[in-house]
Amino acid sequence: QAKENGRGGYSFFSPEMNRKLVERRALEADLRLALEKGGLYLVYQPQVDLESGAITGAEALLRWERPGIGNMPPDRFISVAEETGLIGQIGAWTLMQACHEAVSWPEGMSVAVNVSPVQFRQGGLYDAVVAALESSGLAPGCLEIEITEGVLLNDTDETLAILRRLRGLGIRIAMDDFGTGYSSLGYLQKFPFDKVKIDRSFISHLGEDRSAEAIVRAVVGMSHALGVRTIAEGVETQAQAELLRDKGCEAVQGFLFGRPMSAGNLAEQMAAPRA
Ligand code: C2E
Ligand code: MG
Ligand code: MG
Ligand code: MG
Repeated sequence: QAKENGRGGYSFFSPEMNRKLVERRALEADLRLALEKGGLYLVYQPQVDLESGAITGAEALLRWERPGIGNMPPDRFISVAEETGLIGQIGAWTLMQACHEAVSWPEGMSVAVNVSPVQFRQGGLYDAVVAALESSGLAPGCLEIEITEGVLLNDTDETLAILRRLRGLGIRIAMDDFGTGYSSLGYLQKFPFDKVKIDRSFISHLGEDRSAEAIVRAVVGMSHALGVRTIAEGVETQAQAELLRDKGCEAVQGFLFGRPMSAGNLAEQMAAPRA
């Protein structure tokens, strides 16, 4: 029910809703501070070529050490960053940081950076990519951006033009979490992707569930027909990796090959001879 608030108006918020709102505001304020004063950092998860077994690059994953609270998972703060518009600045910071860290990795290693649909729609992504490449000196061929279907829901000429301009820089574009949400085969044909990342939900059922296997086979076949490479995310077992190789999937990422780690640890692993 409506309650009188301190300023003589009425609030329709229950105590529970009010608590959530206060929490959210605090999170937003802390996130803004983290962006300005430091507190965000990136960890990197190796991506491995299934044929050679070699690490070819890594995905950058955002982390936030929130004062007094501890590690906040991205699933808990990216959405707030999107709602408040902070995602543009956070996304630009992430691109800049990832390029600066990846430039000291061994030759030929690439880095993949996640881009939020809201960040994409805000504009400024192209400029942020150019700034990160120029400032770091990273070769464009070593940078990949990961977008989700959320970006393509806004299926316009402008979306297509932005993706083409980005690709014109020489960077690669990967479609993340493929198979979830509104996956459309049309997207793969229409938009200029270099890579499809098969969503973890299909990989985790590989070997137990025949339909997951059929889906993986279909996605790999279709991607190859369109000239697009495939990488599977969330690979946790040797059996999953073997099935993926049998199906022609080129690359893998997952706990089996390495947890997300610091840039320094990753550089060491990249340089180390394979076991
Ligand atoms: P994503 O891009 O699909 O990233 C993969 C997530 O799966 C990561 O979670 C990773 O730690 C986790 N993962 C990797 N291998 C395995 C595995 O073998 N098993 C299991 N169970 N999980 C695995 P994380 O780091 O918590 O990130 C979650 C999501 O947050 C990401 O999903 C991405 O959508 C978003 N995110 C992370 N960093 C950024 C960023 O810099 N910008 C934006 N816009 N979003 C980000
Ligand atoms: Mg990703
Ligand atoms: Mg993913
Ligand atoms: Mg996923």
